[in-house]
Amino acid sequence: MDNDPKPDPNCLFCKIVSGEVPASFVYRDEDVIVIDDINPVAPQHRLVITTKHWPNAARFAGSADPAVVARFFSTGAQLGREQWEQGDRLVINTGPAGGQTVDHVHMHVISGRQMTWPPG
Ligand code: AMP
Ligand code: ZN
Repeated sequence: MDNDPKPDPNCLFCKIVSGEVPASFVYRDEDVIVIDDINPVAPQHRLVITTKHWPNAARFAGSADPAVVARFFSTGAQLGREQWEQGDRLVINTGPAGGQTVDHVHMHVISGRQMTWPPG
């Protein structure tokens, strides 16, 4: 895959990036968007989503512009710090066994309650 993947017309997150599907936007720039998760698992649950259709974290980290990879990570980390001073959890599910349900890379930023370990 080159480093300029085209939008996938069947991808939910590509449709949110383009505006075809509405979402609750928190932030947007050229490289990432941040939206509220529609099914929050904690008092604060947001998603950092790349504007380009990278199918998973490995493809994204392996092929995208390193500056975009850095921006993706720093957006999630900064958001987590702003959401709740007591801490947060950043999660990237990958593949069926990892619990990934939308094949477009995204980071969950979850906070507002005590997390437990190991995850389910
Ligand atoms: P994952 O299971 O890691 O692939 O995460 C996909 C996430 O997308 C889940 O937490 C869903 O609740 C969330 N989601 C699905 N549809 C929407 C939507 N239309 N707007 C916002 N979040 C969504
Ligand atoms: Zn997509």
